[in-house]
Amino acid sequence: MSSVGDLGKVKRVETDVVKCKSCGGTMVFDPATQSLKCEHCGNTEVLSRDTNVLERDILEGFEKAARFDRGEQASFKCSNCGAVVMLGADESAAVCPFCSTPIIVKEEYFGGLKPQVILPFKFSADAASDFAKRWAKRRLFAPRKFKKTLSPENMHGVYEPAFTFDSKTRSTYRGRVGDRHTRVVGSGKNRHTETYIVYRNVSGTFDKFFDDVLVANNSNFDQKKLSSLLPFALNEQCVYEKKFLSGYMSEVYQKDVKDGWTDAKKIIDANLYSAIKSTLHCDVVDYLDISTEHSDVKYKYILLPVYFSNYRYNKKDYNLMINGSNGKTSGKTPISPWRVLFAVLIGVALLALFIYLYSFAE
Ligand SMILES: [Zn+2]
Ligand SMILES: [Zn+2]
Repeated sequence: MSSVGDLGKVKRVETDVVKCKSCGGTMVFDPATQSLKCEHCGNTEVLSRDTNVLERDILEGFEKAARFDRGEQASFKCSNCGAVVMLGADESAAVCPFCSTPIIVKEEYFGGLKPQVILPFKFSADAASDFAKRWAKRRLFAPRKFKKTLSPENMHGVYEPAFTFDSKTRSTYRGRVGDRHTRVVGSGKNRHTETYIVYRNVSGTFDKFFDDVLVANNSNFDQKKLSSLLPFALNEQCVYEKKFLSGYMSEVYQKDVKDGWTDAKKIIDANLYSAIKSTLHCDVVDYLDISTEHSDVKYKYILLPVYFSNYRYNKKDYNLMINGSNGKTSGKTPISPWRVLFAVLIGVALLALFIYLYSFAE
């Protein structure tokens, strides 16, 4: 998000601001109290949390496949300071960079599906910074400078879109698996143990219910990133209301339900392969063909809370992510060559000491 002077071709979108009923100031979502809090007078408003989360039938989702295309970029005019601010193509909530007023893009500018469910941020940027620092402490080779950047100001809370899928699966499988055995062969000097494999044919059926398989749905937060933050505390999800977004950034989904379901099936297939394999108690798999039928498939569109922290070191960008529901942290840290050198020197010193002591013991 950045501000620009010339906005000739950029679409202007309307935004909402959550206003305080007592002073007219702006209300933001406060994770500590899980309610709205006025930034000006401190007034709070309880957000009713509807935990009766409904999932939708997948066929209904296929029909709603079309998604409104807002175009590459849009801008909004800040209702507080009047600045014209650029929005990324997928941003649905943001904070004005000039006056910090939190805005939410009106829903008609997105079309397609509306989020059904949200997992609200469980803690503030201060707490996210603590989680990140604790994580960085265990990264021995991370430069001190990097650890210092993990301040609350560098923690950016973003609601990332994802789909969840439920499915009752019935798989039939057929394959050939093997068990390792050992035997003693040869005689005299050549007597030794060798390993051999006994193969057996297997077939059968396998039933498993999948609940809330999470599929990432924005290129800024892909499946790899999502997986690195699992699990999300999905037992705390509630029905989506846009007031939850106030004070945070939010992005919208990019893939339709059909493509999301294709991704989900890959995750389910991989899971079924290991589940079935483990019931076979084998050492090797020659081949294992599985065909799976899905029934009662349900989906929902959910927003997940993630804090991002970006850091530039030696011309490279580093991203840290913190799961906003439980503090799980993931990412890469830069490596300080001095710290590595120091560790190597200590290693060499210990080795030298060891050899010295050992030579005395002889
Ligand atoms: Zn107020
Ligand atoms: Zn502003």
